Amino acid sequence: MEERLRTLAAMQKLDDKIGQYRILQDVLPKQLNEINEKVEQATIDLLAGETEKAELNKLQRALESEIKTHQAQINKYATQLSEIKTNKEYKALNSEIAYLKEKISEIESQLLEHIDTENEIKSRIVEYKKVLGEAEANKKAKEGDLKAQIDTLEGKIESTRAERNKLAVTLPVALIKRYGNLIKNKENQAVAYSHDGSCGGCGFVIRQQMRIELQLRKKVVYCENCGRILLNPIPEEDTQQAE
Ligand SMILES: [Zn+2]
Repeated sequence: MEERLRTLAAMQKLDDKIGQYRILQDVLPKQLNEINEKVEQATIDLLAGETEKAELNKLQRALESEIKTHQAQINKYATQLSEIKTNKEYKALNSEIAYLKEKISEIESQLLEHIDTENEIKSRIVEYKKVLGEAEANKKAKEGDLKAQIDTLEGKIESTRAERNKLAVTLPVALIKRYGNLIKNKENQAVAYSHDGSCGGCGFVIRQQMRIELQLRKKVVYCENCGRILLNPIPEEDTQQAE
């Protein structure tokens, strides 16, 4: 019986290991996604910033060319002024020039405002580039290792399961079945250790009679509440043997 109880404990240890691999099967792909998403987001942000800057620069060029057009027009009027005959025409042309100068001054103040915006976009682009660089470095450092880990998990689970099954065949069929059902239905925990007089699986208080049975280790004891196989904590050296 002692051997049987040790086998059950060793099997549970292996199932604990399988449970940890399963958690990693869930967690690691998420980590991988997160790493990739950060790179994607940083790329999108940078592209948006650069597009914003390009659009602004286009607008700035359009405004500058508008100034040039107005300026050329002013120059043309200025030459015409010398050929003007009447005072009326002279006044009209002068007010045209004044109007264009006013226009130019408006555009120039617009351009000044755009310089501030451009500087703000530029500093954002610098920040986006930095974030992207960091995200890419992080991806480069971790992606390969994560993928390798993910790829090996299924194999690790299979070999651990095989190891567990090798132990299981030494037990009576009914006990193996019960163990298997508990693993399946009780959050991957078939064996629970008594803890301060309670079941370590569900917390149910263990009766005195059962505590004695647990100490004697002459039979398999089941928790009256959750049905898990109960064991007293194994001393340190035994735990190492079980590994
Ligand atoms: Zn229990």
